[in-house]
Amino acid sequence: MPEILRRSGAWFASIGRANNTGTKLMCVSGHVNRPATFEEAMGESFKDIIEKHCGGIRGGWDNLLAVIPGGASVPCVTGEKIQNAIVDFDGLREAGSSMGTAAIIVMDKSTDIIKAIWRLSAFYKHESCGQCTPCREGTGWMMRVMERMVEGRAQKREIDMLFEVTKQIEGHTICALGDAAAWPIRGLIRNFRHVIEARIDQYTYSSTSDGAVPSIAAE
Ligand code: SF4
Repeated sequence: MPEILRRSGAWFASIGRANNTGTKLMCVSGHVNRPATFEEAMGESFKDIIEKHCGGIRGGWDNLLAVIPGGASVPCVTGEKIQNAIVDFDGLREAGSSMGTAAIIVMDKSTDIIKAIWRLSAFYKHESCGQCTPCREGTGWMMRVMERMVEGRAQKREIDMLFEVTKQIEGHTICALGDAAAWPIRGLIRNFRHVIEARIDQYTYSSTSDGAVPSIAAE
């Protein structure tokens, strides 16, 4: 604030791209070398920001699996897609997500992405106040389907069914929690459908139960 008062609003508005001006407080957590909270100009590339403030991705950029760029409620983006994305409102929308709160969650290739998104589903199910039906019933329904998908104990046709349910919840609830519960799953299916399908195949064709199939029992 003092800097804006000293230099003027026009100066502040000159930072970043048209319609995406100023600075943003960003918080990076997860698989970077130095998780951090910092203020940065809008319009920088994701890669530049992570290199500058967080010392890069744990294990290098090739080890980046996915990023949730705007807090738990926005869709994840693949590591490949996010690297050169511009971190501002339009840039992250073009990448298929949203700037949200700029609470950036970085996940490397050690992450079970289905389980990570299931964990968010469990959070939103817990937080639902139950006032409106799509959220009250939908968050629990989605969480239970996600729970089975973590193990691969699902049918492939359920992936599209789950996607459809996210659309039935989005925009049909009193507050934004319904949208917030739907979007992470939408991002998972859009970007990692092949991982869900592979997990289902693994479960279906696995002849032994030697613990190779991931489980949520430890949560
Ligand atoms: S959308 Fe909001 S108001 Fe509706 S049940 Fe969920 S938390 Fe409650």
